[in-house]
Amino acid sequence: MRLALKLGLIIGIALGLQACGDISPEESCNFVRNADKQRVSWTSLPVKVFVHESVPSARYEDIQAAADHWNNVASRPLIQIVSTGVEGSAQPKRDNFNMVTWHTQWTGKMTEQGRTTINWAKSRVYEADIKINAQTFIYHDDGHGTPFVDLTSLMIHEFGHLLGLAHNEDHDSVMRSQLGFGVRRGYALDENNNIETDIKAVDVKSMSCEYSMLK
Ligand SMILES: [Zn+2]
Repeated sequence: MRLALKLGLIIGIALGLQACGDISPEESCNFVRNADKQRVSWTSLPVKVFVHESVPSARYEDIQAAADHWNNVASRPLIQIVSTGVEGSAQPKRDNFNMVTWHTQWTGKMTEQGRTTINWAKSRVYEADIKINAQTFIYHDDGHGTPFVDLTSLMIHEFGHLLGLAHNEDHDSVMRSQLGFGVRRGYALDENNNIETDIKAVDVKSMSCEYSMLK
């Protein structure tokens, strides 16, 4: 039995690749890189994210918490949840809206928990969409074991992709490609049961290659 399943894939669609300006290769810093081996990232922060009406309102809190954990670790807003319950098609498309959608009929691999698609031109990411597989998995705070997945942990990972990070199999990384059932990753409860951000140095270091972190 597989206790850990593969997380979302990232698909980069490079548009308008015109070789001009500085195209010197860069170290990956665990970021996705374009065809010129430059890291792709957002030039304007925070990234504005919309939550589609397909997402159950009971799960908004988990998505906001995942954004808050990245913002906490950066001491600045990296991700802003602008609006929830947004109407329209649940199929991701390049419409200049970074949308989180919920899919009770999953068209990808059934073992995928989520999928983040990022679109870039040159080294600038201009749009991203996140799909959540709600056909195979159940997202519930009180759920333990198969098939319960901690949505805040999953969204910390998918928001990492949205910001440009690739998978990183370092033991401490929230960008490891597999997230076990019922596992919390990227946040923890302290001795007083208060929630605290637990995104480790390996991911902070990656993020700081592209975004100034105020901590
Ligand atoms: Zn992933």
